[in-house]
Amino acid sequence: MIKWTATVVDVKYEKDLINVVVSPDNFYPGGGGQPCDYGKIRNNNFEGEVFRIEKKDYSVLKVKPVSGKLKTNDIVECIVDEKRRKRLTQMHSGQHAFYKHLEIVKKIKGEEISVEKVDINEVESSLYVKASSLTWNDLFRAEDALNEMIKEGRPVYVHNIRKEEIPKYPELRIKTERIKSDVIRVVEIKDFDWSACSGTHVANLSEIKNFIVSRFRSAGNNEFEIKFRVDDSSYVAKLSQEIRVISSMVNEEPEKLGNYIKKIKDENERLKGQINELIKTAKIEFDSQRVGDITLYSKHLENFDNKRFVQIGNSALQEKSIVLVTNQEENLKYAVFCSPDSGRNAAEIIKRINIKLNGKGGGSNSFGMGAVNATREELLKEFMLIIS
Ligand SMILES: [Zn+2]
Repeated sequence: MIKWTATVVDVKYEKDLINVVVSPDNFYPGGGGQPCDYGKIRNNNFEGEVFRIEKKDYSVLKVKPVSGKLKTNDIVECIVDEKRRKRLTQMHSGQHAFYKHLEIVKKIKGEEISVEKVDINEVESSLYVKASSLTWNDLFRAEDALNEMIKEGRPVYVHNIRKEEIPKYPELRIKTERIKSDVIRVVEIKDFDWSACSGTHVANLSEIKNFIVSRFRSAGNNEFEIKFRVDDSSYVAKLSQEIRVISSMVNEEPEKLGNYIKKIKDENERLKGQINELIKTAKIEFDSQRVGDITLYSKHLENFDNKRFVQIGNSALQEKSIVLVTNQEENLKYAVFCSPDSGRNAAEIIKRINIKLNGKGGGSNSFGMGAVNATREELLKEFMLIIS
């Protein structure tokens, strides 16, 4: 257990929390992408939970009182939420080692990569990098290499060095502009990575157990977010189970799922093309009725995508006419077309329907789209009142 005895140096009650300063203070206050420790402070007369830490030259513990009262000069027992600390520590060391492996993978290809931001969390953490490109293949190579190093049991050391010693660490990853103190804390993964960091770290990479990139997306502007998990074999097992279930569902070998999905996507594209062709040539029947000096053409569809039902509506538009196409999905979507000589305005019609039926949508004089939580009959009734 990480616990120690400390003296309360300062106490300030503030609404439902207490600002507490203790000495000595071994709570990690947060930094380098790693959030602060949680924990407890207590003695015979008081118990409270540390849920946030404000960093000044010293730390101010934000404490939620559970029982009793705390005063300056009290002697308290401080206890760190060890489970959380351990998770954050594994994550943080995993992030250092993974980034270095990824840097090597990119260097071999002659490509640059840099860290933009780190966001360490207990279950899943994020590493944001800047790179000209990044693929799953790059990530897998770094992931494999790191898992090898975890298996091997590579030691991790912490050195406290002085500024003038920086040249002795030619591969040191450091943002010099951020360094304020004369002593710099260097975290070394033996003979592999050196990084200036204030965070908590494992003493040996074997403590990480395993590392997996769980998600990966481009954030635009050559930035990528890499989500990862450590010491989470149950997550890896769950993924693999899910894949086996899916492979049964589609009746395909798990190893061939990628090819199978690519085939389906291609097929889907082909079908979309064919449907578009059909719609162009098909004669779709519309109901028509006279409304004063114009004709209203209307048609009801179900579960068409937006692009197609609009296309269908557009095909019915004639001189001196209005077209209304409704498309039932979860809610009722509709498109309105007004010919220039119809004397009606699509945007205005939709605006009035929005007011009457609490709908959404808008458009221009000649075309607009909307959605309502109403039946087609209710929509039609309002529509007729507006255009008549
Ligand atoms: Zn770090």
